[in-house]
Amino acid sequence: MRQEPARGLGQLVRWPLRWPLLAQPAPLVVYVMAVLGCDLALICWELARTRPRPGELLLFGTLLACGAICIEATRRLGMPAGLSRDLLSAWWLPIALLLPPVYALIAPIPLSVLLQLRVRRSVIYRRVFSAAALGLAGGVASIVFGHFGLRAGTVRDLAAWFTSPGPEVWFTRPVTVVIAVGCAGLFSVLNATLVAIAVHTAEPLIRWREVLWDSERLTLDVTEVCVGVLVTIACALNPVLLFVGLPPVILLQRSLLHQQLQAAARTDAKTGLLNVAAWQREADTEIARVRRTSESLALLLVDIDHFKRVNDTHGHLVGDQVLAALAQQLRQQVRDSDMVGRFGGEEFVVLLPGADAAEAAMIAERLREQVSTTVTVVGDTDVAVTVSIGAAVLGLHGDDIPGLLASADLALYQAKEAGRDQVCLPEPRYEPDSVQSVIVIDPPLREDSSTSFR
Ligand code: GH3
Ligand code: MG
Ligand code: MG
Repeated sequence: MRQEPARGLGQLVRWPLRWPLLAQPAPLVVYVMAVLGCDLALICWELARTRPRPGELLLFGTLLACGAICIEATRRLGMPAGLSRDLLSAWWLPIALLLPPVYALIAPIPLSVLLQLRVRRSVIYRRVFSAAALGLAGGVASIVFGHFGLRAGTVRDLAAWFTSPGPEVWFTRPVTVVIAVGCAGLFSVLNATLVAIAVHTAEPLIRWREVLWDSERLTLDVTEVCVGVLVTIACALNPVLLFVGLPPVILLQRSLLHQQLQAAARTDAKTGLLNVAAWQREADTEIARVRRTSESLALLLVDIDHFKRVNDTHGHLVGDQVLAALAQQLRQQVRDSDMVGRFGGEEFVVLLPGADAAEAAMIAERLREQVSTTVTVVGDTDVAVTVSIGAAVLGLHGDDIPGLLASADLALYQAKEAGRDQVCLPEPRYEPDSVQSVIVIDPPLREDSSTSFR
């Protein structure tokens, strides 16, 4: 049956309204549009004032080809979902430092299309935003580098490029290298900041420190800058050296992806916490260490109260957001060395190395109170939940992870029985002399076979 022209037109007009970007919170939509707008404006501005030269176009094409080879060579490994890192800056940086800014601004476009078609289909607005952020960061780094007048004469005419050793040896002068490293650092910081603002706008519960700064990310940034500057210098000396640099960059890229995929396999996708298998593996290692050092250790089992009602009232998607928000809260309320995992469904598990019964009770109570006084905002919906927590302490309630989990589970059951929104620590199985004092945690609140904190 033929579609009426008026209906077809109406669908076309309404099509942008169905873009996934527009379903995002307004601040994120505004921010993404602003970054795209700036990128497009800068591209137009630079296009209008740049006269492409054959040598530049040849170098640009060669560097893009290297990027494409890198993508194809690592394609089979796949790419972890969400934020992931690659070493494509090894090719963005020479483009930014050796060529006029317009090339750095448009370079991410073809490679992002390739990534989208050949590696992983990601949500279009995210892919476009990443390309715009990379383009802006590269464009600005390129403009700043150009201001030092260091690019003059870098790219000579096409024939001379491949036939004679060029005057680009100046690129190895210490001052030039220092400025190049500074501009590469600027590229890296700008790109990371643009992406971090987007992540934080999308998920305000994530702390700035988590999206901007961690030692792993810093190591990667430094590696990216170093590899990018080395490739730039090699390329400035002789573009044929690009093909010598390509295999090591591919190898680095492969090991980087491998590491990220390994990390993804440990992580629960919905909450970003350790998944249950990884948590148990790491908890076993931790318990072995704690036994050697005679440190104390406690475990908390956290279960959201009446979570089924949240799903029934607001839908599973809102339920998922609440799970993710709660996971963030738990992570933020404990030390970095404590291990938080998603145990399953709406249950979380927290391992507290170094914590005795009193500390475990205090931390559990802090978590409970924090959750009960927080409202999660999902779109227009405010969702408030409470949690019940069962605790267990190494030596008092179990000697290994299964024993501790069983005791914490029993305590959790008692917390639910006692009315929910409770913390419960069972009486010790036995009372060695050394732990006499920790049993009296909060005597007035002690109940029959367990201690509840409210
Ligand atoms: P209680 O206070 O006794 O723990 O009640 P509850 O409703 O939290 O517990 P119950 O075991 O009856 O239900 C757990 C609910 O958690 C049911 C299930 O749909 C929901 N759930 C489990 N995993 C997920 C998930 O990944 N996403 C969402 N949205 N819901 C989940
Ligand atoms: Mg449950
Ligand atoms: Mg529950």
